[in-house]
Amino acid sequence: MAKGSNNRMRWIIAATVIGLVVIVGFGAWQLRAVADSDAGGANASLTQDPNLYRGDIRQAYIVAHDHPELLAQLDCYCGCEQNEGHKNLLDCFRTNHGASCDICTGEAITGGQMLAQGTPIDQIRDALRTRYGHGG
Ligand SMILES: [Zn+2]
Repeated sequence: MAKGSNNRMRWIIAATVIGLVVIVGFGAWQLRAVADSDAGGANASLTQDPNLYRGDIRQAYIVAHDHPELLAQLDCYCGCEQNEGHKNLLDCFRTNHGASCDICTGEAITGGQMLAQGTPIDQIRDALRTRYGHGG
């Protein structure tokens, strides 16, 4: 008699532990998903207003504004990554740096065109390195 209820007790404890592990694991996964979506949204409007500029420069700022996730994954080859501490091409368009630099502008416009054609980002990155990365 006593032995049987002991066994049942052990099963209840085991089931409770498994349940807790599942709940905690799911909670942590949810928290991570929320943190990820926050990080994505924060990039959205940090670039300068394209309407401050004209022509090619304006076009480049439009690409930066519309596709920050693309430029954040591309390198800039104008030297600003060494000289100004930029981490990627998106940084060039957070200030007026991109407006004074043919390389930044050219990379953004080319990248935007390739993205519009459905080119995967790793291929865009390779194409820009080939075209602008010489001697950099
Ligand atoms: Zn640059």
